[in-house]
Amino acid sequence: MGKMKDKDDLFESEEMKILEEARETQRHEGFISDLFLGEASFDYVRPFPEQSSEDKQKADEFIERLRKFLVEKVDPNAIDRDGEILDDVIQGLKDLGVFGLKIPREYGGHGFSQSNYRRIFQMVGSRCANIVALIAPPNSIGASVPILKFGTEEQKNKYLPQLAKGKISAFGLTENEAGSDPSRIKAMAQRVYNEKGEHIGYKLNGRKVWITGSVKDDGVPLGEYVVVVAKTKDDPKMSKKKLGLSTLFISSDLVGYTTPHRTRFGGLKAIYNGVLEFDNIFVPKENLIGPEGRGFKVADQSLAVGRLTIVSSCVGGLKQSLQIARWWCKKRVQWRQSIGRHEATGSRLVKIAYLTMVTDALAQYCAKLVDDHKDVRIPAMSAKVIATNHLWEALDNLMQIRAGRGYENYYSLKNRGEIAVGVERMWRDSRVNSIFEGENTLLSLASGREGTDDYKQKASALMEGDSKARLSAGLWMSKQLSKSFKRRLGSSHETFIYNQSKLLTYQLLRVGEKYRMTGLQKKQLVVGQLVARVYNLFLMALVLSYAEARNDKPLAKELADYFCLTVREEMTGAKWTTDWLLNGSHGRVDELAKRLMEGEAKWLEEGIISALEQEGVEI
Ligand SMILES: Cc1cc2nc3c(=O)[nH]c(=O)nc-3n(C[C@H](O)[C@H](O)[C@H](O)COP(=O)(O)OP(=O)(O)OC[C@H]3O[C@@H](n4cnc5c(N)ncnc54)[C@H](O)[C@@H]3O)c2cc1C
Repeated sequence: MGKMKDKDDLFESEEMKILEEARETQRHEGFISDLFLGEASFDYVRPFPEQSSEDKQKADEFIERLRKFLVEKVDPNAIDRDGEILDDVIQGLKDLGVFGLKIPREYGGHGFSQSNYRRIFQMVGSRCANIVALIAPPNSIGASVPILKFGTEEQKNKYLPQLAKGKISAFGLTENEAGSDPSRIKAMAQRVYNEKGEHIGYKLNGRKVWITGSVKDDGVPLGEYVVVVAKTKDDPKMSKKKLGLSTLFISSDLVGYTTPHRTRFGGLKAIYNGVLEFDNIFVPKENLIGPEGRGFKVADQSLAVGRLTIVSSCVGGLKQSLQIARWWCKKRVQWRQSIGRHEATGSRLVKIAYLTMVTDALAQYCAKLVDDHKDVRIPAMSAKVIATNHLWEALDNLMQIRAGRGYENYYSLKNRGEIAVGVERMWRDSRVNSIFEGENTLLSLASGREGTDDYKQKASALMEGDSKARLSAGLWMSKQLSKSFKRRLGSSHETFIYNQSKLLTYQLLRVGEKYRMTGLQKKQLVVGQLVARVYNLFLMALVLSYAEARNDKPLAKELADYFCLTVREEMTGAKWTTDWLLNGSHGRVDELAKRLMEGEAKWLEEGIISALEQEGVEI
């Protein structure tokens, strides 16, 4: 066994070099990055950026057609039970153009905006997570985004029309030894030269695991294409050069391409995921996406926006959960009243409602950032972490509300004459969301790393810079310090966010002093706690703005206020005080739960395919 790497070496290592090279270097801009700098820049979230009605209209008709198809042809419970999606369903989705949602119209796609894409995935996510797993990679990280973002004109002209028509593409990064650490990738693409000594392509060898959308069955590929991230090196006859990670676009009918194993999981029973093997596959040079040696950059930056797919589908799951929760909280009577009228269970319903609202605000906000060509790097990675955690938390609460009927599966409930809604399936399917498309722990640490970049650069300048750089860094630090002592009086949520942003700067300066800013990334628990503070403040500001823009919607303001209150109670430790017992936020739960059960916040459930309606329940 190799010697364990010294922990201190890790951050100067190849792993970090790959991450650093993948980063876009321009400064971050937005509410979150400003929070790290001690600013609560409300202008970034206020007024709440709404999708225009003209843009909405562009997808309305398509969404209706897709809704009809999903209702008539897609049975999420049968798909889960059988572990298969019928070929007719896959073909039907292709015919509708579901695999080319954002591919521009000039290449035969729908050319939808990110905001319309969000609405589509919200609806699909509310219906069937296995269909999300089928259509998400081809629409994002599969091939369309890497080619759109990094492809040559030839690649765009050749492949985008095929992808828009429904050729399925997958994305292959992970290997047995290389999960979240891409430096351990072993798949190797060795340069191939012709007789004239011209570089004409690569010989690819290696093995990838867990590649979604690639394996229909053991030995049977699903899709037509895979984007593969592999190490590249020169032909040893030419040089010994290692050329870094590169991204290659390969076709699944190439000689040497095999799909030996379809993987099966605790949830997502019908995901077409598996192991890929490459045995001396010749890949022409024209199939390199982006520059040679910049493969992780292509992957990482394509994933940045790609991750918003999962955020949108989580909102669909949350809205579905809210509807089921309010129905059951009202319908189920125990101890003489509806279970939602008992405070402890009512509080679960209220929680699901505010998690839904906050996540909806987040998804809409991020989609609009993309459409407006604003900086979405930190918001998108944060949104992925937050949305997947929120859905899991909501489903856990829904499971508790449905209790025995939550844990019992759909067909068992149905066979004994009960109304069945598939909570157990949704719960199983949602667990993986925090694992793939960027594992959540590492993504939240990454947002901390990005957010504290200015501090790190100034700290490096202080330690290693010339006298001018040291002076300027010193001035910056002292400005941050004096800023950190500014406080406002008042008890509004806005004042709380403002004061907390100053406290955050103070804490960053203090931990930078103790652990050295340049070494802060080793203190993962410290960074994690700082990031949690940032996420809370961001969500508070966002949901207040979202509710302000929806002042005609019943309960919008009350739910936003309650959310902010509970966050504040948690952040300040207020829950442990006598005052909380006497005057805390719990005093609002009963009324909120009652109004939710009366259906006042039905508007929050818009845009989904209702599982209850499909079972004939009027809701
Ligand atoms: C259903 C499913 C579908 C998938 N689809 C695809 C796909 O289409 N394409 C693809 O390429 N991959 C895919 N994956 C792989 C997925 O992206 C990986 O599972 C993920 O990257 C994590 O890798 P790992 O499971 O090997 O975990 P590891 O990287 O081994 O991590 C294990 C644990 O260690 C922790 N850890 C690791 N490094 C650190 C660190 N530096 N600091 C602190 N903690 C750390 C992690 O947080 C995690 O909790 C899929 C996986 C699943 C389950």
